[in-house]
Amino acid sequence: MTFALPPLEPVTLPILGADARFPVRRVYCVGQNYADHVKEMGGDGRQPPFFFAKPTDAINLTGEFPYPPASDNVHHEVELLVAIGPDGIFGYGVALDMTRRDLQTAAKNSGKPWEAAKGFDASAPCGPLTRDFDPSSGGIWLDVNGERRQSADLDQLIWSVPEIVAELSKLFKLLPGDVILTGTPAGVGPVVVGDVMTAGIDGLEGIEVRVA
Ligand code: MN
Repeated sequence: MTFALPPLEPVTLPILGADARFPVRRVYCVGQNYADHVKEMGGDGRQPPFFFAKPTDAINLTGEFPYPPASDNVHHEVELLVAIGPDGIFGYGVALDMTRRDLQTAAKNSGKPWEAAKGFDASAPCGPLTRDFDPSSGGIWLDVNGERRQSADLDQLIWSVPEIVAELSKLFKLLPGDVILTGTPAGVGPVVVGDVMTAGIDGLEGIEVRVA
């Protein structure tokens, strides 16, 4: 086979303790999956989960988050990442669902899609995958410049990891390589150039990302 253009390099995630990389197929995200975050975004109660997606090449392993154009209110959202393998869940990691909140609010108000708010370049800083992890509980947190902004526990997920996988499977055929960002707890807020975000989940390798 020949190509008219050089074929794209696969997008991959590192795996702790392994040389092999995890090739990423699709990036699904869950909206409003912690009760306290639903409240801060103006909602209430347990609603059926809803999903959106980021392009695969939004995955960002550089340790730098380039502040995107066309927004002056970009928010951090720390999330548990679930990676799907050939036999169910393959591993877990820490990820950020960076969001142009101003564009998201405008899209919500006008009933328009979220791509520009959620799917922009480099909008998903991620850490390495851990194979062995129990996602039913454990602290999840994010600091900006050493100050705690988000702090919660995975046991506060409205829709648990198995429920998310089940619900998403009703809409899409999940395949090895798919990853799911499972939603963020309360405390989302803006970052500016020069900020350093550090984020973690108990039992997983954390990440440090500078806003550039
Ligand atoms: Mn999110």
